[in-house]
Amino acid sequence: MCGIIAYIGSKRAESILLEGLKRLEYRGYDSAGVAVIEPDGHQHVCRAVGRVANLESKLEAAGGFKGSVGIAHTRWATHGGVTEANAHPHTDDQLGIALVHNGIIENYASLRTYLKEQGHVFTSETDTEVLAMLIGELYDPEQGVDLEKAVQAALREVTGAYAIVVTCEREPGVMVCARKGSPLLIGIGAGEYIVASDASAIIAHATQAITLDDYNVVKITREGFRTSTVDDVELSPKVMKLELELGEIELGAFSHYMLKEIYEQPNSLRLCMKGRLDKREGTVVLGGLEEFSKELVRSKRVILTAQGTALHAAMIGEYLLEDFAKIPCECEYASEFRYRNPIIEEGSVVLAVSQSGETADTLAALREAKSRGALSLGVINVVGSTIARDTDAGVYLRVGPEIGVASTKAFTGQVMVLTMIALFMARRRFMSPEASARVMAQLEQIPDLIERVLDTNDQIRKVTEKHVERDNWLFLGRGYNYPTALEGALKLKEISYIHAEGMPAAEMKHGPIALIDDGMPVVFIANQGPQYDKVLNNIEEVRSRGGHVIAVATEGDKQIESLAEDVLYVPDVPEALSPLVTVVPLQLLAYHAAILRGHDVDKPRNLAKSVTVE
Ligand code: GLU
Repeated sequence: MCGIIAYIGSKRAESILLEGLKRLEYRGYDSAGVAVIEPDGHQHVCRAVGRVANLESKLEAAGGFKGSVGIAHTRWATHGGVTEANAHPHTDDQLGIALVHNGIIENYASLRTYLKEQGHVFTSETDTEVLAMLIGELYDPEQGVDLEKAVQAALREVTGAYAIVVTCEREPGVMVCARKGSPLLIGIGAGEYIVASDASAIIAHATQAITLDDYNVVKITREGFRTSTVDDVELSPKVMKLELELGEIELGAFSHYMLKEIYEQPNSLRLCMKGRLDKREGTVVLGGLEEFSKELVRSKRVILTAQGTALHAAMIGEYLLEDFAKIPCECEYASEFRYRNPIIEEGSVVLAVSQSGETADTLAALREAKSRGALSLGVINVVGSTIARDTDAGVYLRVGPEIGVASTKAFTGQVMVLTMIALFMARRRFMSPEASARVMAQLEQIPDLIERVLDTNDQIRKVTEKHVERDNWLFLGRGYNYPTALEGALKLKEISYIHAEGMPAAEMKHGPIALIDDGMPVVFIANQGPQYDKVLNNIEEVRSRGGHVIAVATEGDKQIESLAEDVLYVPDVPEALSPLVTVVPLQLLAYHAAILRGHDVDKPRNLAKSVTVE
């Protein structure tokens, strides 16, 4: 959600900032802007609604910026409409202070009233402008309050979440950044620094980065940097190596990141399992959990928490942990869990699932559970992200960067990791080495089986073509494939803007069946499994009301052909692992529906890749 990129060095900042903004586009945004301290000594700002390309044309028409200190932003509006005046950077009204911000200043209204009383004039509706103005109000170099000190002082006054970068024309060689709740990294180049919301915008320039913790403030000059808290207690910086390769975040031969990532799944899952399955001993090797293996074996309850696609993976995790490790589990939206005064008994483990590791709701739920004494685990893709650093222990997905806003390979990676965690715990509790090794052998087959599903892509496109004009869809499944149905519906909503609902197949007749009319597409996950016959009954119920059934079924199932209008076949997979395979045709179906309806798959409207506000 929202992208920040800033540069201080000796090169022309403009091209680096624009390139960085393009790399951050996938995070989701509605407007963009840039501010550079120009050779005339002034802060120059250019902003545009819509794509970064609009900003680029505007800059070009204005002759471009030449300075070597600048900040830039892609905005995902929270306070105030999508207008040029609300786009960042925001400035104060006197001193040439410019600021980009990701997050929400919660007490902006009272600060705004106060600042208005001091005579400040606002030009936007945003919460962000209040912070720029407050820093200006506090800035007083004669009294020793330079930009760094003014930022610290302002941040002591605000509540909410922020990642910010601030520059000031009176201190042209200085940049100050800070964070609380929203991500920010500082890439260390040769005589230059690149500040960004994520590593994808940094790796072209730097291989090392400083990570910031909440309430950290960093003052950067071309010569070096100083890290402190908002109370000005000096800190030693935490430097990490950036492992990401440029090739991993480039599109290559694919037309969209989403399609690329769907096709990457066989390999991403191979990487995810690599070195983690010891079939001889029947044990899963998860270095990140080893230190807490005793607590995990003794744990009495696991609470899985997440949002969006990660929640669907977590729901499958709940089934897996109960099935394999026989631990009572519950799975809940992080946003709900956090605010319902949850009961955390001794022996509770909270397991947070998030691709980015920055999901604000999930982070808040995790902190709540930790503060009540739970052991915290993370299942995260982005190395070094906030949740990854905040948890007691965790397991990385290792599926590579996910750029597509609609999550695909992270979902299968999350399910794979949760399966391995379930086996890790099961084997240490009571599962025999043989039983565990059997599941591992089945897991190792999954990538090849997904390849077989990918080979049916043309047929999936044809089936999608038949139904794509319909505006309401249902996705139904049972057991392990109930979450798969939810995920299939979510994918369709996210990128094709078709209204879709997912639910347990049995739930349909308790109300939603009223929706079924002639020709309504109803997708059933009807693979062979313990509830196959029950699913067939549900299919009959839909057929008799005129619905068009699209069934995801097991190869060789002839019976289903007489019941379903269309069948998308997947290889035979044991029930507990089946979502890893049954979800793939649903991902492709959503992809084709979006393309057929003429939507930009990688930049779906209103969506952000990682949701860093609550
Ligand atoms: N709350 C700020 C705004 O609405 C920042 C939003 C963002 O993170 O892009 O302008």
